[in-house]
Amino acid sequence: MSAADSGTGGKGRRRGPALHWQILTGIALGAVYGIFLPHWTQYIEWIGDLFLNALNMIVIPLIASSIFIGVAGMAGGNLGRVLGKTLTYYLLTTLTAVVIGLGLVSIIKPGTGRDVVLSGNAGDIAAQDVHMIDQLTGIVPSNIFAAMADGNILPIIFFMVLLGIFSTKLEKKHYTVLLDFFTAVYELIMKVTMAIIKLTPIGIFSVMACMIGAQAGDPDALTGIVKGLGLFVITVWAGCLIHGGLILPGTVRVLARINPYRHMRRVSTPLLTAFTTCSSNATLPLSIRYTQGCGVSEKLAGLTLSLGSTVNMNGTALFECVSALFIAQLYGIDLTVSQQITVVLTSLLAAVGSAGIPMAGIVMMTVVFNAVGLPLEGVGIILAVQQVCEMPRTCLNVYGDLCGAVIIARSEGEKLTV
Ligand code: ASP
Repeated sequence: MSAADSGTGGKGRRRGPALHWQILTGIALGAVYGIFLPHWTQYIEWIGDLFLNALNMIVIPLIASSIFIGVAGMAGGNLGRVLGKTLTYYLLTTLTAVVIGLGLVSIIKPGTGRDVVLSGNAGDIAAQDVHMIDQLTGIVPSNIFAAMADGNILPIIFFMVLLGIFSTKLEKKHYTVLLDFFTAVYELIMKVTMAIIKLTPIGIFSVMACMIGAQAGDPDALTGIVKGLGLFVITVWAGCLIHGGLILPGTVRVLARINPYRHMRRVSTPLLTAFTTCSSNATLPLSIRYTQGCGVSEKLAGLTLSLGSTVNMNGTALFECVSALFIAQLYGIDLTVSQQITVVLTSLLAAVGSAGIPMAGIVMMTVVFNAVGLPLEGVGIILAVQQVCEMPRTCLNVYGDLCGAVIIARSEGEKLTV
């Protein structure tokens, strides 16, 4: 048995240190490389690119097959109940994350008392504006192959849910063929996933080195952190730690009735991968693999995690809310209570609409800023520290999904092995 299996519930003999130790070593070595050899990262960048490409390569067939298996396997039975519970869990935990962010930013006040004036230079940022209505109508794809080619996950989920539901209305023999086909695709992709997982420490070494190297070569970003943005970063990290270190584990303890910290250790590989790659989508194959290792069935793990990787973003929602209030404080703009409620609601929507890819949260931030009339150049200010904030928020996004999967599985009577 390989080290990659160590966190998945396998009990065989293992060669070398556990995978999460190898990944941590990769992160540390990558950081050292990035700090001391920032101009040499170009020589190792291709390794990280290959790793991320490999992970992203399997995401669409994985989401398509796992959603189909989950929906077709449950349609007519407990599908409605499972989807209802999953979406309710996503909504409530995301809302809690936003409220934590709101509370922290109001207490810490990272932007208050700084003399920032509008420069009126928001041209580039305004161009990134995203319309919520387009996002919603885009869920029904006019061309499913275009959606797949663009990596547009929500329409793919919608299409596969539809196929899954209607497959149960087919003649039994056709239904069985389809279910067998998608199960075979899913198993195949999982085999590929296992092979890619073994390369995670090397891939992450390169991703980390390039990321740190880029920051070291950008003195503006570093100065920005020192000059006041530091408190903002602390607020985001504190929010992620409170939600991910206390609230979600508490929820897992009560609802899934397992030791939450043992669960966290068991899923440390997807968590570390999310932290470093800053992509919920790229982490999805690992999340599914390791959640199955906790005893969750293939059907439930696939369905809840595939949905969650796009729809459930606790960290992103928290980040949107903290950013909006921080920028309001920075420019001395007093937001009324109803404007603050608007920030909470649009942060939630922006998180649902964000793709599970790097920087998605920044693009969606314009939705929140527009809703309460905040200057879009504020997004540019946040950009200076976007990277340091993206790591914990993506990790929290993925952790929220991982917790949801075990909670839903337990509520459906599955036996967890954590
Ligand atoms: N990078 C995040 C994710 O993949 C999304 C974001 O930008 O907040 O979950």
